[in-house]
Amino acid sequence: MKTIGLIGGMSWESTITYYQVINTVIKERLGGLHSSKCILYSVDFQEIEECQSSGNWEKSAKILSDAAIKLQNAGADFIVICTNTMHKVADKIQEKIHIPLLNIANVTAEVLKEKEIKKVALLGTKYTMEQDFYKDIIINNGIEVLVPTEEERVIINNTIFNELCVGIVSESSKKAFLAIIDTLGEQGVDGIILGCTEIGLLIKQNDTSIPLFDTTLIHAIEAALKSISDYLN
Ligand code: GLU
Repeated sequence: MKTIGLIGGMSWESTITYYQVINTVIKERLGGLHSSKCILYSVDFQEIEECQSSGNWEKSAKILSDAAIKLQNAGADFIVICTNTMHKVADKIQEKIHIPLLNIANVTAEVLKEKEIKKVALLGTKYTMEQDFYKDIIINNGIEVLVPTEEERVIINNTIFNELCVGIVSESSKKAFLAIIDTLGEQGVDGIILGCTEIGLLIKQNDTSIPLFDTTLIHAIEAALKSISDYLN
């Protein structure tokens, strides 16, 4: 089994989901007492968020690259960054290590293509929705990407940072997200990317008829399968 190097803590609320999903997939596939070989480097999210809001992406790239190097030195076979937003600096991190990095946007794009999705809406932090680093990967796979209106983006971003990242899951935010999802559905999207690793704590597939693509689940499942690929072949 390959050892997964997880860079987590962004936020730790969603890193818990990664650990649960990875181990569940391995248990289901291999049976017995099998569980994941993984190493977690969990950062202080306050430091990372301050880099994000001040636009100091260089500093955050350095913090996460140092974490990746430590995981590599500790025996990780590949790296998983447990957040969408910080994939803004994924290439900078990859440059500093010789083991591969499993990019969350690439694995999400693969699933969208498998499901023949042509037009999708992207929910995430303001950085993920408004900047190009994430959208471009989806668009370059031949998929049209819509984002919510400015007013809706503020609601989504505030909910992520002020509630979900600190463990608050509220009924009113759930309603607000579902209203946004309905509006996007009326614009003809085939699916919604939950492009922030905490959104799955608030919204589940059972809450809506529009197909949801929860990047936490997609990324964690792919990481688990990659780690046991020698067993599966
Ligand atoms: N976990 C979130 C994401 O997937 C937001 C936290 C962050 O800004 O890294 O983008």
